[in-house]
This record gives sequence, C-alpha cells and structure tokens, in this order.
Amino acid sequence: ADEAAAWRRKHRVQVSGGTAPKPVRTFLEAAFPEFLTADIEATNFRAPTPIQSQCWPVALSGCDLIGLAATGSGKTLCFALPAITHIVAQPRLQPGDGAIALMLAPTRELALQIKGECDAFGGPSGVTNTAIYGGVPKGPQQRDLQQGVGRDRVEIVIATPGRLLDFMEAGVTNLRRVSFLVLDEADRMLDLGFEPQLRRMAAQLLPQRQTLLFSATWPREVASLARTILRADALTVQADAAP
Ligand code: ADP
Ligand code: MG
Repeated sequence: ADEAAAWRRKHRVQVSGGTAPKPVRTFLEAAFPEFLTADIEATNFRAPTPIQSQCWPVALSGCDLIGLAATGSGKTLCFALPAITHIVAQPRLQPGDGAIALMLAPTRELALQIKGECDAFGGPSGVTNTAIYGGVPKGPQQRDLQQGVGRDRVEIVIATPGRLLDFMEAGVTNLRRVSFLVLDEADRMLDLGFEPQLRRMAAQLLPQRQTLLFSATWPREVASLARTILRADALTVQADAAP
C-alpha cells in the first residue's frame, strides 16, 4: 500500500472515491489476455503511461471509473484494452443483439481515432468494431450494424451520440447487450450539446453494466452527468500533467 502511495506521488496520480488496486508498472503486469499483451508489446511503447498504470487495474476489476488527464496522456487505451478484455469474456452475440461495448465520442475524428486503436489491438484477433457518425450516408453504417463486419456481428460500436440515437430510434440497432459503456471526452460532448442524447441513451442501458468516463476537464456539468450515468461507487483517477 505504501509502495502504491509512493508511486502515485511520484507520477502525480490521485485516486478518490474509494480504494484502488495498485498501479501496474508494465504491460505484462496488467494481465490482459495474452493476445492483447502481444499486440501491445509489438508496439514501440515502452511502458504504460501514468493514467494507464492506474486505470487498467481499476477497469479490469469491474469497477466504474472516471479518468481525468490531459490530452495526449494515453486515455484511449485506458478503456480500449479493458473493453476488449471484457468482450472476449462474454457469450457470443446472437442475431438481433447490438454491441457489447459502446464507446461514445464527441466527433467523427475522435471516433475514427478510437476505431484505429480498436483495429490495432484486438482487431487482429477478431474483435469486431464499427464507427458510427454523422455527415456521411447512413447506408453502409446501417449495414455494418445489422449484418456485422466481415462474417461477424459487431462487438464494439464507437459512435457520436446523434447518429447512433437516430439508428436506435429507427430500430436499426439496440443497446440491450451493452455491458461496457465508455464516454470519451465527456467535457467536449457536453460542450457540443449532446447531454440530452446521452441521457436518453443511458436510460435504455442495462443497469448491470460497467461504465467508464474520460475527460480532460471536470466542470460541474460533467460531474452531474457522471452522477446519473455511473455507479455511486465509481473510482476517480486523476493524472496531473508533469509540471
Ligand atoms: P488522450 O486520449 O489522452 O488524448 P491518446 O489515447 O490519444 O491520448 O494517446 C496519445 C498518443 O499516445 C497516441 O498516439 C497513442 O498511440 C500513444 N500512446 C498510448 N499509450 C502509450 C504508451 N503507453 N506509450 C507510448 N505511447 C502511447
Ligand atoms: Mg482521447
């Protein structure tokens, strides 16, 4: 415990809302499924970033998580690797099921960036994903949602809230299998006015799910959204940028 506290002081990571598992220092220590550890060791990344070191064990414990850290600190993998780990532990999707993991992001660029990480990690082992966003024709996205990607149903949907809600309300997809929910760049989603869509979607989700929220800033509106969408015992992990 002292060792974890010393690590957090040194790396400027703070945990609040409860007791967190100790941070992991290496990719191997995170104890992801072997195929994921191999994918990450095939990159030129040397070690987990501070926010990853502390978020991974929290996320893998099944806890709800609020992750706060500046842009560029590696937040995408904080949720993408635990999401893939979660998916491979679930029963396979059945016809008519929507995704198992839903990742919401404010913009198409960001959704595509997250998709890139999901393709790089887990993609080679057959974990399927699709990105859903506005400003492009609906046809191909609708086909991916209904028929899957390749031969397989879509396990991860990465979406901007408006377009996904359109598809849900048209009966193209549903959230009844979602047991892993991510809100990425929650502050920017609220700045862009997505709060009503987020609340409408949250109302349709299974209560027995894990929810992770990431943000670079923590204004009152984001805290209020977190209170309605995350469990009361969510842990908050905040990494301060190096001075
Ligand atoms: P954030 O979401 O916090 O802005 P990203 O997840 O976009 O940050 O990551 C920023 C960059 O750092 C990306 O290019 C990503 O591939 C890279 N990255 C992620 N994790 C690591 C790591 N452990 N070591 C080195 N680079 C990393
Ligand atoms: Mg990010």
